[in-house]
Amino acid sequence: MRYIAEDIEVRAREELFINIHPIQPAGRLTPEAMKALIAYGDGYSTCDWCVKPFRLDKIRRPPIYEFHSDLAEFLGMDEARVVPGARRGFQAVVSSIAGPGDSVIVSSLAHYTEFLAVEDAGAVVKEVPLNEKNVITGENVAKKIEEVRRETGKLPKLILIDHFDYMFGNEHDIKGIAKVAKEYGIPFLCNAAYSVGVMPVNGREIGADFLVGSGHKSFASPAPSGILATTKEWADRVLRTTQMVGDVTKRRFGIKEVEMLGCTLMGSNLIAMMASFPAVRERVKRWPEELEKTNYFLREFLRIKGNAILSEMPRKHTLTKVDTSKSFDLVARRHKRRGFFLGDELRKRRIIGEFLGATRAWKLNTYGLTWDQIKYLAQAFQEIAREYGIEVE
Ligand SMILES: *Cc1c(COP(=O)(O)O)cnc(C)c1O
Repeated sequence: MRYIAEDIEVRAREELFINIHPIQPAGRLTPEAMKALIAYGDGYSTCDWCVKPFRLDKIRRPPIYEFHSDLAEFLGMDEARVVPGARRGFQAVVSSIAGPGDSVIVSSLAHYTEFLAVEDAGAVVKEVPLNEKNVITGENVAKKIEEVRRETGKLPKLILIDHFDYMFGNEHDIKGIAKVAKEYGIPFLCNAAYSVGVMPVNGREIGADFLVGSGHKSFASPAPSGILATTKEWADRVLRTTQMVGDVTKRRFGIKEVEMLGCTLMGSNLIAMMASFPAVRERVKRWPEELEKTNYFLREFLRIKGNAILSEMPRKHTLTKVDTSKSFDLVARRHKRRGFFLGDELRKRRIIGEFLGATRAWKLNTYGLTWDQIKYLAQAFQEIAREYGIEVE
């Protein structure tokens, strides 16, 4: 069966290929999450046992309430909420803390959703420059804060920096940044979209006021899904409950949280996150092996003459930016399929990713591949290189 409905084909990329797409591997579902999607797929399925005071995170059957407290504990924070993507976590925090005329400190490698969350609140981004290793340091954050203070006469309202960025997958000095944030009394949101759910992350140890994760990026969960976690100190502000009173009816809506618009991830997305959670908890302990595999692969990849790695080395993440402009791109220039030749050759070997047409600087992610798949992947690149006359050392 190739179609699930007219015009909608079956998606079987994960079953049929080795997928090294930069953003997809750690969002791949567990079998339990797949079952949850089917069983809880009906609209308001999580509302079966919702009782007064009627809020999603208070429901105990299935154990949504318990999941929220387990999640907060898992992340080393006091409170956790589920949200439709990391971006909705940024939005809730930024709009609670910054407004028109305010500045928010972000990274020069900030994700577009961070820009948009700041723009939505009417504030402006102020980017911290990278150091020579493409890393954001506490020192550079402090310099930027001073610059903003000089220029605007005010301190920035929030520091929003990625644990691992999406461009290089480099690790940034989040503990150093948290320290600077404390010194200035500015809240710090650590964007852990690329780390919560694949490696151990503890907000308290980092010193973050907010920790945001992505369900569909790194937590084996369907889209959209994400996590916003915070401390007791900030919960009152960002998770404030409604105060609105209807002028005619005098109605109030009690404990509904304003930034969450009452209830957030209803139905199968939440239950699928919960179903993946036990596996996610276990898999973060295996992060060192994920790094061993990715570093092994990249050492093999570097044996291809002209190949280079643009991310920091050795890798601390499975997302890596590579440069093949002095190897595969030289082939692409004389190939009739141009840059598509590499993707064609990889696809022939049942390997897919994002590299449609890209043969200069591109990204790959080896998360979750077995050792056999890692070795096969390394051999495939070397084989293609040899076939096109590129030397393999
Ligand atoms: C993927 C990503 C996001 C967006 O996450 P969503 O869950 O899709 O909203 C934000 N920041 C970084 C650094 C990312 O890599």
